[in-house]
Amino acid sequence: MSDRTIILQDADFLVRDYETIERGLSVVIRGNLIVDIGKAEDLKRDHVIDEVYDLSGKVLLPGMINCHTHTAETMYRGRGHDFEFPDWMNNLVYPTNEVMEAEGDELFYYLAQLSAMEAVASGTTSFIDNCVNFTKRHVYHTAKAMDDMGFRGAVAKDAVDQSPMDRGFTGPIDEEVSAVREFLGRWKAEGSDLVQAWVGPNGTAKKPNGGATDELLHKLKAVADEYNTRLHVHLAGTHWEIENVRKQTGLVGSIAMAHQLGILDERTSLAHCIWLDRSEMEILAETGTQAVHCPSCNQICAIGVFPMVGLMELGVTCAIGTDGAPQNDSLDMFREMRSAVLLQRITHMDADAVSHKDAFRQATEYGAKVLGVENLGKIEPGYLADLTAIQVRNNPFLMPMYDPLETIIYACSGGRDVAMTMVNGRILYEKGEFRTVDPVKVMSEVEAASKRIDNKYLHTL
Ligand SMILES: [Zn+2]
Repeated sequence: MSDRTIILQDADFLVRDYETIERGLSVVIRGNLIVDIGKAEDLKRDHVIDEVYDLSGKVLLPGMINCHTHTAETMYRGRGHDFEFPDWMNNLVYPTNEVMEAEGDELFYYLAQLSAMEAVASGTTSFIDNCVNFTKRHVYHTAKAMDDMGFRGAVAKDAVDQSPMDRGFTGPIDEEVSAVREFLGRWKAEGSDLVQAWVGPNGTAKKPNGGATDELLHKLKAVADEYNTRLHVHLAGTHWEIENVRKQTGLVGSIAMAHQLGILDERTSLAHCIWLDRSEMEILAETGTQAVHCPSCNQICAIGVFPMVGLMELGVTCAIGTDGAPQNDSLDMFREMRSAVLLQRITHMDADAVSHKDAFRQATEYGAKVLGVENLGKIEPGYLADLTAIQVRNNPFLMPMYDPLETIIYACSGGRDVAMTMVNGRILYEKGEFRTVDPVKVMSEVEAASKRIDNKYLHTL
């Protein structure tokens, strides 16, 4: 890693975290870390600077952390919006994944890079890619794609031992567990300081479309602990799941079931967490389990609304994910933060239910907590230099600017307004240019594959 020292100079505003905003400051970055913040003239006196990057006319923010997505699903962005949720899985997700399998590892590599391109161009510096059902076979190439590009995040590998529609992605428990072990071991040997290998079962086998049995979930948590890594699971995402759990276990819901299985702790994050009662919210608070909500997915799939207000009252760490492209059509976390706030307000019929500051905190420092990286998600000395700069001068979409955070959360569009994104002290994106990836190659590979997949399946929808 380079030890060069860069000064990001004279930002109009520096949004250090959800409650600290300062004017006209500069930031010194050495290698991958923020080392100092202050007035440019003082910083230039105190540090030997190799490169000056002008931030005048811009607002500097910590990069967003997208805590739940599926990069392979970018392949079917814009399809299947009018299916009821179970049909959406059965008619869109599974068959398309099945057809994509024939394309091999390369396609999954390019889809991860395409998603990371969309992320950095919209101010996101990390994501958690939950590689579920068929895509679990391509986790190594997904992780490699992110690492090669210099993008941060985690790749969580699925394991499934029971599904009512066996399309060839379920397996016996021992085989599923050893495939997860193989990935964790192989990725550990790569020694990446950017991308983590996680365990990411799609969910409980009690979901209508199946998943991991209790025995498998229990074993997967043990494997995650053994490898000193994290567990990420879709849980309590639909009322169908909860009805099945209640019928089969007599418990109040999936969170109570997961608690009984011993898989909930501060190293477990749960995607969706929509259907849970007060006692289950308390379980999340007591165990330190994190909840990741996906506001656009809640609305597009019509599966319910995340109980953010109740969880925040109890001190549960809530973070935000976009989910995959077909549940959202965008990986832009600015859209997602806005949607998170608006969805809570209309649900509670209360314009004060949650604020833009809550959403921003969830997309930054709480996202870092889910990712398990302590010095991430704020602009502070000692923190990792994962940053994004928003163009505000001469930008008709973002003027006037009284409170930059409020304006940005409600009015910013990532791909349009992001001027620069840096991950680990390295600029990955600047003014429409991607510096660490060949965008023409990535997009032409995905475009060509999309035509083949459309011919084989998608046109039938
Ligand atoms: Zn998901």
